Amino acid sequence: PERPGIKLKLAIQKSGRLHDDSMRLLKECGIDISNGVNKLKSEATNFPLEVFFLRDDDIPQYVEDAVADIGFVGENVVYEKKKKVDVTEQLGFGKCRLSIAVPKGESYTDATSLRGKRIATSYPVLVQDFLDKNNVQAEIHEISGSVEIAPGIGLANAICDLVSSGSTLFMNGLQEVESILKSQAILIKNQDLGPVQQAILDKLLFRIQSVKKAKNTKYVLLNAPNDKLDEIISLLPGMKSPTVLPLAEQGWSSVHSVLSENEFWDIIERLKAAGAQGILVVPIEKMIL
Ligand code: ATP
Ligand code: MG
Repeated sequence: PERPGIKLKLAIQKSGRLHDDSMRLLKECGIDISNGVNKLKSEATNFPLEVFFLRDDDIPQYVEDAVADIGFVGENVVYEKKKKVDVTEQLGFGKCRLSIAVPKGESYTDATSLRGKRIATSYPVLVQDFLDKNNVQAEIHEISGSVEIAPGIGLANAICDLVSSGSTLFMNGLQEVESILKSQAILIKNQDLGPVQQAILDKLLFRIQSVKKAKNTKYVLLNAPNDKLDEIISLLPGMKSPTVLPLAEQGWSSVHSVLSENEFWDIIERLKAAGAQGILVVPIEKMIL
């Protein structure tokens, strides 16, 4: 029941690690945003969507309060803020982990090693949950940024911070000893979304899912001698079954199929071993199933 005039309001990060990937996802969904990063909000020109640019920390609250209908934000922020919102979809970017780190060379066996220690973090709620779960008492010192310098200036014995490559920890003489949460960007929504907004969200979700599926899959073309066709076809999962076309050269065929990223290398090796040649791997832009 799409109604003219009514738009879905989406909150994304104004600038920072999630901004570019959030904008890219909308673009891949075929949604054009009249660009204005310096503005508070912007409108899609070809989809009933209004985009708000906000600090990531504020997004769960805005969605709970229905200032925005939906938001793209890191799981870490959603679980730290404990707001009443629904988690609708994992978006596949902004991957990181929330980890405990201690100065290099310091021993750490498990959570009990933190007993009586002082932990600096921007995620006091998640760290307290972790300590409680392990029956460990420790002091949490909340700081909003540059957490990794806390041990070096004598502010804390350990930190809990977001890590992706670990290079920031390394440069600050810290070692990652335990990961307490794996995180990626997710789509959250207001719990009392109206039917018109829900219908627009369903359209958006359909597009997001098509983009995500395509990212995880590759289109594979290869040449196979006809006497090896059965074996090669049996290795290919495909959406239905592979397409097999005769080549100009007698006794050879071209085989086309779709492979998912996680089984890709394994299957490619077995295809080569089975006699496949001239294997081409092509990215897929969208996949509508
Ligand atoms: P804002 O100004 O919007 O509050 P911020 O400084 O809090 O921005 P960023 O550093 O831009 O936040 O990180 C935004 C999100 O990106 C994080 O909450 C997390 O979900 C994700 N992220 C992915 N990898 C990392 C990483 N290595 N370090 C920090 N955050 C990461
Ligand atoms: Mg923030």
